[in-house]
Amino acid sequence: MLVILSGVSGAGKDTIKKELMKRMDNVITLPSFTSRQIRQGETEGVQYHFISKEEFEEKIKKGDFYEYDVHHGNYYGTSRELMNEKLSQGKIIVKDIEVNGTENLLKLLKNDTRIVTIFLKVEKEELKRRLIERGDNIQDIEVRLGRLDYEESKINLYDYVLKNDEFEKIVQIIMTIIENEKRIEDSLKEGALK
Ligand code: 5GP
Repeated sequence: MLVILSGVSGAGKDTIKKELMKRMDNVITLPSFTSRQIRQGETEGVQYHFISKEEFEEKIKKGDFYEYDVHHGNYYGTSRELMNEKLSQGKIIVKDIEVNGTENLLKLLKNDTRIVTIFLKVEKEELKRRLIERGDNIQDIEVRLGRLDYEESKINLYDYVLKNDEFEKIVQIIMTIIENEKRIEDSLKEGALK
């Protein structure tokens, strides 16, 4: 099962993802590839696989990605091979992708993979505060705030839209969603086997 977490950069997706992995068995994440610079506190292979623009373009040519997109001048993409490997192991993959990537993955995978989509909504002022706290520079902040309206215009792609105000509450809600969706997936599989 694939769980997609979206919401503008700075909405807290990464922190939530880490917490889910800590608290739930069988939940993993799948780092995307990106050509952006590594940020302070990030580790190669954890948040992303960091590669150069040229390496990324080579991978595009080889068809290595299920989908890829450009944000703020950098490439981001989902590895076909890594995704298939983890799905075939029965893992619950929690992936943090923005709305265009979600739209593409839904089109490509919906027929043979159970996909649950969750959108984390955050108020503009709150988002600005978080980005400043994270140490983003003012230009990046403006770009990311500008992206908020676009992302929210795609909200009807999502099964669940949650207001990300209280961390503990949101983690509990997402854990409940994942448990319920997993139960549904398992019972559908059992039904198919009968
Ligand atoms: P950041 O640079 O803040 O880590 O991420 C910027 C944006 O890229 C975020 O909205 C994030 O969800 C998106 N992103 C991360 N990985 C992927 C991916 O594999 N594909 C697509 N389309 N977007 C991604």
